[in-house]
Amino acid sequence: MSDRPVAVVTGASSGIGAASARALAEAGFEVVAGARRSDRLAEAAEAAGAVARPLDVTDPESVAAFVARLGRCDLLVNNAGGAFGLEPVAEADLDAWRRMYEVNVLGWARVTKALLPLLIDSGNGQVITIGSIAAREPYPGGSGYNAAKHGEAAVTRALRLELLGEPVRVCEIDPGLVETEFSLVRFSGDAERAEAVYEGMTPLSAEDVAEAVAWAATRPAHVNVDQITMMPRDQAGARIVHRR
Ligand code: NAP
Repeated sequence: MSDRPVAVVTGASSGIGAASARALAEAGFEVVAGARRSDRLAEAAEAAGAVARPLDVTDPESVAAFVARLGRCDLLVNNAGGAFGLEPVAEADLDAWRRMYEVNVLGWARVTKALLPLLIDSGNGQVITIGSIAAREPYPGGSGYNAAKHGEAAVTRALRLELLGEPVRVCEIDPGLVETEFSLVRFSGDAERAEAVYEGMTPLSAEDVAEAVAWAATRPAHVNVDQITMMPRDQAGARIVHRR
């Protein structure tokens, strides 16, 4: 590894994670990109100029092996996550709720806890969490994802308080609608239903969010960007969307 600062991006095989890996490499970071789908990850990492490493944030052994190969970590972008389903509480699939908690909250905790010593040792560390508007506003059908993203936001904000006095900044970026594979995953591969989410409106792109990640990561060391909420102009709330 060179003497450039090292950024770890979780969930970097598509969407916001892949775009953040690119933006951070362009901003001067040595980027280590992790995800489960090795072919997609290799492709995204090559396009970004990043190093690809297998990572499943829900698997303790996978996280331990990923972290053991790092000699340095200056920035952790906790991006791996997602939603499964859009059912009301009355029809809740609790296995899906459990999986959302596993990836968005416990995955966040597993990776963050493992990397904290390196982040502190770096002398200028940073944790950036990709949360969601779902972490701020519950919406009908969102309950399981709302709970997971509210949980992720809560642990991010607790970490900010716990690290006061340490050389580690903590930032939460909460986007609204971003056109990625998010809705395809949410609706179990139903492309028509996924496309309808963005119909008649202009969503954010993964690159729009990645720009915010790179901006927060390149502020001077004494500047902590605590929280960013960003939405498309066509969206004014979790479910308040203008469609043409
Ligand atoms: P995406 O294209 O589906 O990307 C999700 C990424 O997470 C993929 O790279 C996926 O890679 C990875 N991932 C999922 N489970 C993982 C696991 N167990 N271990 C490691 N990586 C895992 O969707 P996205 O929109 O970019 O989502 C990124 C983040 O933004 C998520 O936290 C999501 O909740 C949040 N977000 C999205 C939106 C939106 O509208 N798109 C809005 C607000 C917030 P593998 O499948 O290869 O592991």
